[in-house]
Amino acid sequence: MARTQTGSRAKLRTHFLENIGKVMTSDELRKVAGTSEWARRVRELRDEEGYQILTNHDRAELKIGEYLLENDKPQPAFERSISKETRAYVLDRNGFTCQMCGAVAGEPHPYDPTKKTRLHIGHIIDKSMGGTDDPSNLRAICSVCNEGASNVTLTRPDLQKLLIQVRRATIADQLELLNWLAKKFPQKIKEL
Ligand SMILES: [Zn+2]
Repeated sequence: MARTQTGSRAKLRTHFLENIGKVMTSDELRKVAGTSEWARRVRELRDEEGYQILTNHDRAELKIGEYLLENDKPQPAFERSISKETRAYVLDRNGFTCQMCGAVAGEPHPYDPTKKTRLHIGHIIDKSMGGTDDPSNLRAICSVCNEGASNVTLTRPDLQKLLIQVRRATIADQLELLNWLAKKFPQKIKEL
């Protein structure tokens, strides 16, 4: 029994890795796994091995019963130890924005527009330095910054300079900014 389980999980793992970026259906995965327990095996790949297999819970474009593995990199173990609720809370608190470079989840990355921004949860004080998994020590960070690739230490823009930049921007860009602020602070907009 145990061997069959490992076998179907391995078949699914191979299939996902051979089809990175392709949307797969539950019928296809059931056939590949050769077991009615295929959905449980997929969950194990995600929860125990850390493969970032997306479903319509993660991506609105995916239909129910569709699965997508975006890349072959399993999520680091420390990140798996953070609960879904905490992840959701931190992402929401940080406005789905990388706290280092300001990239927004799902949008083209400002330093590498060929990539869609993918956010991770990072520790502010590293665990090796005694940092905890408490939300107060967590922040949203994009994969580019996570790998140290953006190589920018952005200081927060000074309000005066920021306003000057905004006033000089095109109307279209100002409206885009308004749109973004409205989405970020819906309550404030209502109060205006
Ligand atoms: Zn970033």
